[in-house]
Amino acid sequence: MSDTGMTPPTKPCPACGGTALTEIYRLDAIPVQSCILLDTEAEARDFPRAPLVLDFCADCGFVFNRAFDLAKVDYASTTEESQHFSGTFNRFAQELAAEVASLYDLKGKRTLEIGCGKGEFLQELARQTGTQGLGVDPGFIPERLPGADGQEIAFQREYFDPATIADTPDFVVCRHTLEHIPEVGKLMDDIAEVLKGRRDVGIFFETPDVRRVLDEGAFWDIYYEHCSYFTLGSHARLFRRAGMDVTKLYLAYDDQYIIQYAEPSTGRPPLDNEDDLAAVRTLAAAFPAKVAEVRAHWTKFVKTRHAEGKRVAIWGGGSKGVSFLTTNGLGPEVAQVIDINPHKQGKYLPGTGHLVWSPDDLPGTPPDTVIVMNPIYLPEIGAQLKSMGLTPELVAV
Ligand SMILES: [Zn+2]
Repeated sequence: MSDTGMTPPTKPCPACGGTALTEIYRLDAIPVQSCILLDTEAEARDFPRAPLVLDFCADCGFVFNRAFDLAKVDYASTTEESQHFSGTFNRFAQELAAEVASLYDLKGKRTLEIGCGKGEFLQELARQTGTQGLGVDPGFIPERLPGADGQEIAFQREYFDPATIADTPDFVVCRHTLEHIPEVGKLMDDIAEVLKGRRDVGIFFETPDVRRVLDEGAFWDIYYEHCSYFTLGSHARLFRRAGMDVTKLYLAYDDQYIIQYAEPSTGRPPLDNEDDLAAVRTLAAAFPAKVAEVRAHWTKFVKTRHAEGKRVAIWGGGSKGVSFLTTNGLGPEVAQVIDINPHKQGKYLPGTGHLVWSPDDLPGTPPDTVIVMNPIYLPEIGAQLKSMGLTPELVAV
């Protein structure tokens, strides 16, 4: 860190080692955790903040927060990242497990999931494929997955470290974890170490796609825990540099997530959609102006309605909601934050200190406008509001 603590010195790209880096985004002080649950409003408002400085690597297309400090994020404490309370997300996870089952015969084989969260996906994969599973995650909570830690599935409540993985896996799963890892090149080395030179293994990664974020100026998708941001191409380049072939690569979940399969290289040629570097360089160059425009739009949207005496709510008390509020300094202009996750309700959001409401609380104080933090949930949320007899203005970011 520099003298001011605000402008860390430039370091080489953690994905490729390149030095053709350009700063494309900067926030001076955002909450260092946006999935955390706070018990009091005061605690939530006083939550630690830190700067975020996104650099773009013109050599490989990787985007990363060069001011990120992993020590500031405590994944083992009160992280609440599980999206498994949504029917939409559950169906998606089941379909993904079915796809893995169609591509790999994992019956009786060993699957390692790096960053397994609460373990729901590994449980589903074991159910569909008959694989033995080992899930590794510092935030795993045994009580939340009763009966799962047994003969077929086991969990290690810790950060992934090749030294603690007893058996070489046949299949490696890593969903929504790579974006939390600053030294992404080192993760590739760690995976290679755990595979011990085996060639007959499969790897499955799911990671948020940043191309849409760059294209749309989607600032709510940028927050402290996400220090590493990929496109299809930069994701694939990371694996190719580590001696792997990318065997399947596409966008899923309303084009929000990168789905990538890889195997130790046998020299297969790149897939068509890996070649995105020129396009992503153009998007990165346009991003500073784009994100400023989108931030101004949403600030005006909320403040105009608030000034008219309308009750504005946001639906989604996770990272996107926290980023939406804190990035633009919105406070009392947003009256309600709604989330269907019962573990979030009654708690307070870091930064602004908003209380998280249950949808069941809404009929008494109905919102005039609901801003949905993820467009994929619009039909689900629209149906739920309608079933309660509520017809607010309903929009998605
Ligand atoms: Zn790079």
